[in-house]
Amino acid sequence: MRLYEYEGKELFRKHGIATPTGILAKTESAVREAAVQIGREVVVKAQVLAGGRGKAGGIRTARNPEEAAAIARELLDSEIQGLNVSRLLIEEKLDIAGELYLGITVDDSKAAIAAMVSAEGGIEIEELARKHPEKIASRLIDPFHGLRTYQAIDLLLQAGAKGEHLVSASNMLSRLYDVFSHYDARFAEINPLVVTGEGAMVAADARLEIDDHSLFRHPELRDLRIEHIENQWERAGVKAGVNYVDLEGSIAVMANGAGLTMAVMDMIKHDGASPACFVDTGGGLSPERMKNAVSLLLKKAQADPRIKVLLIMIRMMMSPPDAVAEGLMAAVNEVPERVPVIAVMRGRAPYENRARELLSNSGIRVHSSIEDGIKEAIAASRGQG
Ligand code: GDP
Ligand code: MN
Repeated sequence: MRLYEYEGKELFRKHGIATPTGILAKTESAVREAAVQIGREVVVKAQVLAGGRGKAGGIRTARNPEEAAAIARELLDSEIQGLNVSRLLIEEKLDIAGELYLGITVDDSKAAIAAMVSAEGGIEIEELARKHPEKIASRLIDPFHGLRTYQAIDLLLQAGAKGEHLVSASNMLSRLYDVFSHYDARFAEINPLVVTGEGAMVAADARLEIDDHSLFRHPELRDLRIEHIENQWERAGVKAGVNYVDLEGSIAVMANGAGLTMAVMDMIKHDGASPACFVDTGGGLSPERMKNAVSLLLKKAQADPRIKVLLIMIRMMMSPPDAVAEGLMAAVNEVPERVPVIAVMRGRAPYENRARELLSNSGIRVHSSIEDGIKEAIAASRGQG
């Protein structure tokens, strides 16, 4: 998982790496307000999970709050590197006397950690490695020993750092290593590490990529991962433990398991109609997950007038479908004014019969054949229900 710059900087600060004074803003007025609060020239930085924002026009300076607001108008809802901009970081503009590069990553081929330093800060490391590999000093670090001070100083010397910068930059590299190992990162980078006119060292940018396999050890980062999902329905799906996908048509589909879900999508398309979205609940469906998934789709249908019908496909051979039918009913009963709900319930005979009985009693149209369910959903989506 890649973190936004502002999130990375927050973790940097916790580990003693200085960053510019900054405020996150999501609207034009919040940007103006932030610039007023900072009270001097600012940099408006588009927060997208990609590098090279400077070149793509995502890093802009503003002399006053009005200019900052005008930049915000341009940047918000625009695209940088193909990514939608919805968050801006407003920072004090730095007085830049010099720029360094510090990076730490996992070198998979060597099964070790690599630390990298360059005196050419501000250029993307991938580009620098291509054009001027000789300008990057790097060495492997034994994860059991960590980064030793002499190694940090040696790297900086190799990169050509001098005098008073040597000690403070090696301190920064050690702290970056702390962040890297503390959060189980795959990549931690300060580019540029700015040396200000007064000789201070400030992380002007932050790139931090966390190993997804370690997220169970960092619950606070797992929450961030959910927040990163821009589509509110997809985000709600992850919270409900299901897989939500937005599409263009008029039939909202829910099914248990990817195979069944995809087959239903194909059958709808084959019959000349199209799905509006789908939820795949995955296997081992519980009544509670069923309820959450149906509630999610009913809410989506209320918010999106394109959706004319909800089609629910449940096929359970292991556990009885009548329990999940209760979950389905609970969700439906919470929304009296709703689109028609059509369900196909398949399972072992006694349970299937009971599930069907339960559902028809609460006004849900139930079929036992997938084809019939799809035909009725398509008819309902065309107002022929
Ligand atoms: P990136 O292009 O996505 O890597 O974004 P950066 O945060 O690294 O910004 C790009 C460049 O903008 C930096 O390398 C700086 O040279 C330049 N820049 C100029 N003034 C400032 C400033 O006050 N703050 C920051 N962060 N960058 C500045
Ligand atoms: Mn950068």
